[in-house]
Amino acid sequence: MDTGGFEPVAKEGIMSEMARQAREAIAEADVIVFLVDARAGLAPQDKRIAQMLRKVSAPVFLAVNKTEGMNAAVVTAEFHELALGEPHAISSEHGEGVRQLIEDALAPFPEESDEEEIPDHPRVAIVGRPNVGKSTLVNRLLGEERVIAFDQPGTTRDAIEVELDFGGKQYTLIDTAGIRKRGKVFEAVEKFSVVKTLQAIERANVVILVVDCVQDISEQDAHIAGYILEAGRALAVAVNKWDAVDEEKRKDVKRDLERKLQFLDFAEFCQISALKGTGIKPLLKAVDIAFAAAMAKLSTPKLTRVMQDAIQAHQPPMNGKFRPKPRYAHQGGSNPPIVIVHGTAVDKIKAGWRRYLENVFVKTFELKGTPLRVEFRASA
Ligand code: GDP
Repeated sequence: MDTGGFEPVAKEGIMSEMARQAREAIAEADVIVFLVDARAGLAPQDKRIAQMLRKVSAPVFLAVNKTEGMNAAVVTAEFHELALGEPHAISSEHGEGVRQLIEDALAPFPEESDEEEIPDHPRVAIVGRPNVGKSTLVNRLLGEERVIAFDQPGTTRDAIEVELDFGGKQYTLIDTAGIRKRGKVFEAVEKFSVVKTLQAIERANVVILVVDCVQDISEQDAHIAGYILEAGRALAVAVNKWDAVDEEKRKDVKRDLERKLQFLDFAEFCQISALKGTGIKPLLKAVDIAFAAAMAKLSTPKLTRVMQDAIQAHQPPMNGKFRPKPRYAHQGGSNPPIVIVHGTAVDKIKAGWRRYLENVFVKTFELKGTPLRVEFRASA
């Protein structure tokens, strides 16, 4: 969980709102990373925050940031005063010390087991930049069908989960739409909604990315799309406000989407009007298909056979003196599906051939709406 920032003494307004969220995050966290600024030096706020953090039961790691090009021992010296253990000198921007910090912070936790539980219905996050029509879509979905809304205990109060029964199928909607409405005066609020968006994406297994075809597709749309891709989530894109554009503009929109969101070509693009209620059924159908694809069970014999056929058609190219020889493939995970390929020198396989193999799997297993990842494990 990333918190927007922390000003422990603020009484009202956006700063106190951020402090409230930070406090909530601290209460929920299993481990806390307290970030201070090496360039600014030890500040009075740092001391106040440290005082608070010394009282929490979760372990706290003190990270002194922006230390690139500086002597770690020298810059961290003054931060010992905070009495939060050995400070870690890091540079987030340059990636220095970050891996060690994460490893130390996560050391007490067991590794996640491969035995994941396969969920039985889609958990759907509806995300997109402000004003694209998320709230309208959520209301449209909820308004038409019987719903039971509830606050999930133990989660931040802002994220509301709603059970939806649509066409006899069950969905859990993770709603982020209301959050922005609290105020858009400060830029900090916008940052907050990005955090909420990320959290919703994490908690979902299928994401509906809503874009607005009246406005041009913006960098912000592409950013959110990037988060979804990074998280490996299944996806359906809702091209909203289709009612408000004429034939000419519709053609432009299609071209624009193809160009700017080309990297989402694994997903279904559904033209909808949240306002008029058109295109909603096909959208949920796309969600179903994406969910099924994300959770698909891919059998080892079939994966291996498909891979052998793919090799017949197109050998992995030599890499220097190495000739990679993939031998068999098995599924290493779901949501997104991961296929692990074993063989001789397969770690020398180039990205182009990996993408080729990914495409073959996607086509053969008809995996629409989910990214798929192929990983190579060379046997000695
Ligand atoms: P959010 O910020 O993403 O939750 O967006 P809202 O749901 O608040 O919608 C922003 C504006 O777009 C409102 O004025 C809506 O009435 C309008 N809107 C939403 N969906 C549609 C649609 O399908 N067609 C048209 N023409 N307007 C829409």
